[in-house]
Amino acid sequence: MVSERMLGLGTARSVIRELFEYGKQRSAVVGPEHIYDFSLGNPSVPAPPQINETAIRLLQTEPSTVLHGYTSAQGDDKARQTIAEDLNRRYGTSYTKNELYMTVGAAAALCCCFHGLTCPGDEFIVSAPYFPEYKVFIEGAGAAMKLIQPHQDSFQLDIDALAAAIGPHTKGLVLNSPNNPSGVIYSEETLRAAAQVLTEKAQEYGHPIYLISDEPYREIVFDGWSLPWLPSIYPDTLVCYSFSKSLSLPGERIGYVLVPQQVTDQAQVYAAVAGAGRSLGYVNAPSLFQRVAASCCHLTSDISIYERNAQLLVTSLREMGYQCIQPQGAFYLFLKTLEPDDKAFSLRARDLDLLLVPGCGFGSPGWVRLAFCVQTEMIQRALPKFQELADSYR
Ligand code: PLP
Repeated sequence: MVSERMLGLGTARSVIRELFEYGKQRSAVVGPEHIYDFSLGNPSVPAPPQINETAIRLLQTEPSTVLHGYTSAQGDDKARQTIAEDLNRRYGTSYTKNELYMTVGAAAALCCCFHGLTCPGDEFIVSAPYFPEYKVFIEGAGAAMKLIQPHQDSFQLDIDALAAAIGPHTKGLVLNSPNNPSGVIYSEETLRAAAQVLTEKAQEYGHPIYLISDEPYREIVFDGWSLPWLPSIYPDTLVCYSFSKSLSLPGERIGYVLVPQQVTDQAQVYAAVAGAGRSLGYVNAPSLFQRVAASCCHLTSDISIYERNAQLLVTSLREMGYQCIQPQGAFYLFLKTLEPDDKAFSLRARDLDLLLVPGCGFGSPGWVRLAFCVQTEMIQRALPKFQELADSYR
């Protein structure tokens, strides 16, 4: 006998992975140049050269037993201090290494927060459209996920829906901005309104309501948009960060949780996050890449390519009559499907070798997600296929 839940998770591939695998098989038949794969959020621009240079320097200069040895459970002291100082420079804060817990990417950062915070009966509120793994992570921690819908015109957080969803068992709200899959950045006005609701409800129910800010796309913000620093808007914010996207290092699995000093019961919360890391077997994020990421945390890969791809797609698809949400950051475009059933639309697109992820898996049926972290030239080649897809509905 094995755990039914784990068996289910291990055997059912996510829709995104399903499409990606389909793309690989199909590409072997028709050739990679005839597959237009917009399924996976795998950065398409190389990591900055300083990443490899730093790794090589460390490998050549640091004693092997130190570099490849265990760090403290919460991460290497110097790496955490360097990251804290970088945040301080950018946000005018005064964080120290003691507020940072290094993790195996944002996925582990989120799991540490959910496991660390959850008491029996707790709920976390998530706004659609959302990263599908949230449900897996939240339920894995023994909590329940409560889904709310955003404003359907802008995909901004709906403050009234948030207020209505909060109850005595609400432990936290999960926000992801820039958002996967909508590409939307929550405006400062929206975030301040959300903070006010959280503050009032925390007072009403007599316990803190934490904001879990999932920020793997924090650096990928397009011209004209800016991203407010959430802990300065709402003190009970825990930040989950990842170097996967900004530095194009998804396979190196490196990120962190920031539990700022101002968080209610900070010492307890930080210790519970660390305890969750221990319980989940996550202690000691990859040692070499803690150091590499910390040394390069002020850099990003060339994100201008994503913005160019976004513009090309938005302009071209709108000309063809599609409706889409203008991406303000991250590397995803949310496209309204030309029929109500997004799965059927995705299948029809797949028949043209366009791989688009149905929105229902993100909690937003009637939309598909395009990951545009791809070669610009592939987008150009895909445009006639999008035209063919639109024509097939006329
Ligand atoms: N959160 C969001 C919104 C994501 O899109 C992803 C990955 O795509 C993650 C978390 C997980 O990131 P990581 O690769 O750092 O675990």
